[in-house]
Amino acid sequence: MFFNIFQKLFSKHIHFVFPPTKAEIKTNVPLSKKTWMGVGGNAEFYFEPQDEKDLCNFIKNKPEIPILILGGGSNVIVRDGGVPGVTIHLGKSFANISIDGDHIICGAGLLSMDLSRFAQKNGLSGFEFLCGIPGTIGGALRMNAGAYGSEIKDILVSVRVVDSSGQIQEMTPQSDFFKYRENALPDDWIFVGATFKGTPESPEKIMAKMQDFKGKRESSQPFGVKTCGSTFKNPIGLTAWSLIDKAGCRDLKIGDASISPKHANFLINNGKASCADVEGLGEEIRKRVYDKCGVMLEWEVKRVGLPKQPEDD
Ligand SMILES: Cc1cc2nc3c(=O)[nH]c(=O)nc-3n(C[C@H](O)[C@H](O)[C@H](O)COP(=O)(O)OP(=O)(O)OC[C@H]3O[C@@H](n4cnc5c(N)ncnc54)[C@H](O)[C@@H]3O)c2cc1C
Repeated sequence: MFFNIFQKLFSKHIHFVFPPTKAEIKTNVPLSKKTWMGVGGNAEFYFEPQDEKDLCNFIKNKPEIPILILGGGSNVIVRDGGVPGVTIHLGKSFANISIDGDHIICGAGLLSMDLSRFAQKNGLSGFEFLCGIPGTIGGALRMNAGAYGSEIKDILVSVRVVDSSGQIQEMTPQSDFFKYRENALPDDWIFVGATFKGTPESPEKIMAKMQDFKGKRESSQPFGVKTCGSTFKNPIGLTAWSLIDKAGCRDLKIGDASISPKHANFLINNGKASCADVEGLGEEIRKRVYDKCGVMLEWEVKRVGLPKQPEDD
């Protein structure tokens, strides 16, 4: 017991020497406050680089320690034992946006909704589907976010990434790079920016399309609740929500985690849920759907970090 605690303290705070940075590297930062589901433990270390140079220098010279990239936290649930290593968040200094003809160039820390609004104001169509998707461009690229028949890959021209050796790479992704809600980028590479191409259209027509999507969303999804949106990917030719319904899961609850009465693929933290509640509920749904329908649902939401250990108390 004593050894465990000693080892933990040692690994948490003494062992690592970080490269110099203009930003503060914080310790023990609660990630429940930085994620939409609002569950889970702390980031062991938390770093918001001030610019690309700061980020590259950090990645190049950091000790051997795991990293997690956190965007808006709208598709991530953090386990109750927290996230070991460094959680890196691209903040306002990565939220730049500019336009060049029918191209929009932006940073990966920009909110997807802000990109959608910017495109509308500038009379560029193709970005309307992003108007209701929470989170950042970095998260949207990683997840190949999409809605109403469009995905981010459809408007993408190129990406700017920091690779695992801290080098910037400009990439024009090949057609098989992006798949449904995933892509081929190595886990520890970081999107820092992207260039998109739109189609000229009147701002009024673009706004009307955005309003239509907004209405559809409001009628089919819960609002003002702690959720990560769709929990499971839709299996080919099927919808996750209808399988969950068919398996009779609607009224399932574990602790303070339940299923939205408005959308069966949305899990909800009713206020005091732990990650174990949310993840346990998700696993129970997968089991019941498999038993009833013979389909094993695949998690769309990213689960990160470690479960709570007895010595965490
Ligand atoms: C109410 C609600 C509705 C939603 N509706 C939709 C929808 O219609 N369509 C849809 O596709 N999704 C939807 N989502 C899910 C989510 O909003 C998207 O997946 C979003 O694009 C995630 O962005 P984020 O910045 O929050 O990423 P995070 O949740 O912070 O991270 C998601 C993943 O991306 C990685 N990541 C984040 N930033 C970077 C970066 N810069 N470089 C590399 N990796 C990075 C993370 O490590 C993690 O693996 C919804 C979520 C909610 C809560």
